[in-house]
Amino acid sequence: MGDVIIGKIIVRGKIRLKTGLHIGAQRETMEIGGIDNPVIKDPITGLPYIPGSSLKGKLRSLLEKAKNAEQPLEKRGYGEDKFFNRKIKDKPEMWIHACDKSYNEIKNCEICRLFGTSGQKKGDNFPARVLVRDAFVTEKFRESEEDIVEIKYETAIDRITSAANPRPMERVPPGVEFEFEIVYNVEDEDAKNVDLKNLFSAMKMLEDDYLGGSGSRGYGKVEIFITSVIERTREYYFGNKEAEKVLLAQNGEIKVSDILEKFNEIFGA
Ligand SMILES: [Zn+2]
Repeated sequence: MGDVIIGKIIVRGKIRLKTGLHIGAQRETMEIGGIDNPVIKDPITGLPYIPGSSLKGKLRSLLEKAKNAEQPLEKRGYGEDKFFNRKIKDKPEMWIHACDKSYNEIKNCEICRLFGTSGQKKGDNFPARVLVRDAFVTEKFRESEEDIVEIKYETAIDRITSAANPRPMERVPPGVEFEFEIVYNVEDEDAKNVDLKNLFSAMKMLEDDYLGGSGSRGYGKVEIFITSVIERTREYYFGNKEAEKVLLAQNGEIKVSDILEKFNEIFGA
């Protein structure tokens, strides 16, 4: 129940945009007189960023879909007794998978134990084992003179009148890179490798999917590179520097597919 720390595994890397990225800002943070469809920006630097919640939500949703495919046919789909069992939005309806069973059952759910679940009853929460931090642009782009937000006119065709209705939309152009950090809390040594493999698999699925909005129009294609994986056992936090193990560090970038291929070598399965 998130009540033990055996150790932590810190995964760092880069997300490189292959196509434009649009993660929309909330209405209340929009400037008056600003563009209609702004991207979310760090209020301190004014630069775009990828909220950890967006990245985590996308990874979860991809893993949910992959695990839904493993269910028996009658369990797949949406509804209270189906795999996607919790409605989180009406119009359009949005469903997620969320276990609201006992701690021991949730512990055996590869999605809920990794990404967390809030129970229907108070006190039933299962905190996520994974923590995804906000991803900010890399130094190169932080210091770049070039604008890393552009305005693109998206033409929406009115289906009834066929009139073209161009509307401005902000996006982060292809090529821009963000630094990310994901921390995995080791709570159960036996589940560790399954959880980590699911995490990297979700990242790989993300590369063949999209991040942010307008994915069907080609937005949000990303490439993910891992730059380091560090394991720190509990003792590290009490002063034992040797309790830190660098599982992976490279001058350069390692593709997620290479991590998956060398998984046993890296994580000692
Ligand atoms: Zn679950």
